[in-house]
Amino acid sequence: MARPWSSQSPQQQLLATLEGRNCPRCTAGKLVRSTYKGNEAVVCDSCNTPQAQVWDTA
Ligand SMILES: [Zn+2]
Repeated sequence: MARPWSSQSPQQQLLATLEGRNCPRCTAGKLVRSTYKGNEAVVCDSCNTPQAQVWDTA
């Protein structure tokens, strides 16, 4: 759904918030923006565990 007043959905803001944090699953990893199963997501760059993802609800 188009939101002309805001280019970011709440889910995308969540991804932006999580990006750059340390991975809660491993000590070496850091969360980076990526895609998971075709969705926008934040995943650990070490263990590849997705921490959040945005589903297209349209
Ligand atoms: Zn990790």
